[in-house]
Amino acid sequence: MPELPEVEITARRIGAALAGAEVESAIAPGMVAMKTVKPPLSDLEGRTIAGTRRIGKMPIVDIGGDPELSLLVHLMSAGRLQLYDKRASMKDRRSRVLIRIEGGRELRLREFGTKQRAWAKLLPPAEVESDEMVATLGPEAWPAPPLDELAEALRQPRHLHPLLRDQRTIAGVGRSWVDEILWEAKLSPFKKGADLEDDEVEAIYDSLHVLGDAIDHYEKVIGETVPDKMPMPLKVHRRQGDPCPRCGTELEAVHFSEHVMTYCPEEQTEGKVLKDRRLSRLLK
Ligand SMILES: [Zn+2]
Repeated sequence: MPELPEVEITARRIGAALAGAEVESAIAPGMVAMKTVKPPLSDLEGRTIAGTRRIGKMPIVDIGGDPELSLLVHLMSAGRLQLYDKRASMKDRRSRVLIRIEGGRELRLREFGTKQRAWAKLLPPAEVESDEMVATLGPEAWPAPPLDELAEALRQPRHLHPLLRDQRTIAGVGRSWVDEILWEAKLSPFKKGADLEDDEVEAIYDSLHVLGDAIDHYEKVIGETVPDKMPMPLKVHRRQGDPCPRCGTELEAVHFSEHVMTYCPEEQTEGKVLKDRRLSRLLK
């Protein structure tokens, strides 16, 4: 589930490898992956890749030519944008969009699991900003937005865990890094944004450095190729049962249908162990 740091390092590595490379052909084996039909993907043939960048959790491939084009990608929960030395077998059912580069390399949008939810749009660069998924994004989580802008974004009557994962509130944070940010800030995932004191907003602001630290970590440990499984430097997420790296208390978790929320009860919830929804559902 790539979030801001994972998409950032992906964009950096792919951009470094592909800048200046010529596109030989582009196809979309995932029938529903392309959300735009004009211009068609075949328009990319013979063009040069200008670079790769990121907005929130979305990678963007910029392609030169006249007019310039941008491939805006939404990875959803199981998509990956990866560069390969060889072409994919057409039997690879994970392939959604394939951009073939001269010399045999291939940039692939792949998706793990059975659902087809990842998508891409081929747009003029000016239309990327106005695309509804981009235009509705909150401020980027890293580098941290100005404190007053963050405070304004967070003052909503919603629990911090879903609030920080809402891309319209702040862009780039998902199910993994939200646990790390709240643990760094020593705040309960069930505290409401609107109930935050000024020093608590500042604690969230200060804890956003975990995203930049993760990018620094990836810069050190990831080579030219970004692996399928990212070496995420997580301290608490999914580490329930382990001692809290700061105070030693056993980390606890609440299981939801599609994600797990991990926290330190001693430092985040005033010693309270929150009801595990999975267990309580099983016990009914
Ligand atoms: Zn702790």
